[in-house]
Amino acid sequence: MSLDLHLHSTVSDGRLPPSELVRFAHAHGVTTMALSDHDATDGVDEAQRVGESLGMRVIPAIELSTDLPGASIHVLGLFLDHHDAALQVTLKGFRDARLERAEQMVDALNRLGVPISLERVFEIAGEGSVGRPHVAQALVEAGHIQTIDEAFDRFIGHGGPAYFEGFRLEPADGIRLIHSVGGFASWAHPNELDGKDWRTYLPAVLEAGIDGLEVYYSKSGDYPPQVNEDMLAACAAHDLVPTVGSDYHGFGTMMSPPGSVASPPELLERLEERVARLRKG
Ligand SMILES: [Zn+2]
Ligand SMILES: [Zn+2]
Repeated sequence: MSLDLHLHSTVSDGRLPPSELVRFAHAHGVTTMALSDHDATDGVDEAQRVGESLGMRVIPAIELSTDLPGASIHVLGLFLDHHDAALQVTLKGFRDARLERAEQMVDALNRLGVPISLERVFEIAGEGSVGRPHVAQALVEAGHIQTIDEAFDRFIGHGGPAYFEGFRLEPADGIRLIHSVGGFASWAHPNELDGKDWRTYLPAVLEAGIDGLEVYYSKSGDYPPQVNEDMLAACAAHDLVPTVGSDYHGFGTMMSPPGSVASPPELLERLEERVARLRKG
């Protein structure tokens, strides 16, 4: 059996629709998967229907992008009650706020005579929620400026002519939301922090109430063994449960196929025990 708790479909920024993603994962030997689109669970019901017909289990999940000073912390919510009405209202609010801010920036830049296209900004954003670095990169690509820093200095930095107050989600608020619908919160790809050391941010993420770490992960190759060992040590020290995910998108560097990341056989059982414990309070 093979487990993969981190997969994206066309509901967010993946290549395959939910039903095809499930078939694709099945063809790769996955027996239990989580569909974890960004800010949306709209593909889960379809994925579960197809999963059932194939004898596969599909766990409802989500990926939230949260912010700490200097780092974007992605949080996976696993085993959540995705039919919860309040959850859906909150998620719609997240999606609308992020889109609106990107549109505001692009409109302002167009008025300032340095036009970029919103579509290109979304393409650059790829995995994760759209933000100022993606706008900056589009400005560089369009030849309006030379460097990312220049974009912030001249246009989109705090107080700049194309600056708009950002949508911010604190890790603690994201984790509280996940817990409020019976879910388990895992810090997704801790070692993908734009070159920063995940251990610097661990205390803040623990403080926010995280339940697990995505120790077994692959984007463009598995983590080096030392990173896995350090993460497992952190799990042991802080009573966290490790999770596993390929983060398959089917685009760019996010091409590790479903089920391609190995994990210990007892992982799912440990997770389910923790979920039961969380729900008891
Ligand atoms: Zn992510
Ligand atoms: Zn992801």
